[in-house]
Amino acid sequence: MLSTIHRRHILDLLSHEKTLSQKSLKEKFVDSGEMNQTTLYRILEKFIQEWIIHRAEFGGEKFFTLCQCEKKKEEAIRLKCCVSCHNIEDNHTSLPPESLSSETIELVKYCDKCEK
Ligand SMILES: [Zn+2]
Ligand SMILES: [Zn+2]
Repeated sequence: MLSTIHRRHILDLLSHEKTLSQKSLKEKFVDSGEMNQTTLYRILEKFIQEWIIHRAEFGGEKFFTLCQCEKKKEEAIRLKCCVSCHNIEDNHTSLPPESLSSETIELVKYCDKCEK
């Protein structure tokens, strides 16, 4: 019951910010005393399994981004991560017939968002 509220708070923040680092999520929810670290990580893990968010690790930090696509679980995921502004764009393409899952992480120096 309490975790439903936690889930909603985390989702609210993610839908507002779109992409958040694990560090800033920890500052927001754990350092503030709202929930402990185990709860935060468990909820994030659940969101990943439910295809609500994606996770990417780059520049020595973990980032979580809201899935922007239609949630079709049988598809391959491609995450384009910008190392300058930490923006992540996700793209889903159809999975090759022999694949069970596929996740590609592409790092770019700049993205459309930071050139503005
Ligand atoms: Zn997605
Ligand atoms: Zn960028």
